Amino acid sequence: MSANVERIKIRHIRMDILTPSIRLARWSSNWSIVGSHMVCTRCMSGQAPEKALLPFPHAKRCELFGADYLFPWRTLSLIVSPSAPETDQR
Ligand SMILES: [Zn+2]
Repeated sequence: MSANVERIKIRHIRMDILTPSIRLARWSSNWSIVGSHMVCTRCMSGQAPEKALLPFPHAKRCELFGADYLFPWRTLSLIVSPSAPETDQR
């Protein structure tokens, strides 16, 4: 298992022990829903919900460009419905 995958697993474990409101507050420091699009608050790139299974199209120099911030729709889904099946994970 690569160090990057291990880091993601650790982050998910930490997310699990936080309350939903704290998880949502942390998530919203990086993301915003504008109309129907997910928008990165750092690079202002957007993604429609029908493209949620594709990696988020951050700008090349965005500080959130990386494995931890590629599937914000999935992260939001887990925050609001933590027991939902994780069938959309990649
Ligand atoms: Zn970005």
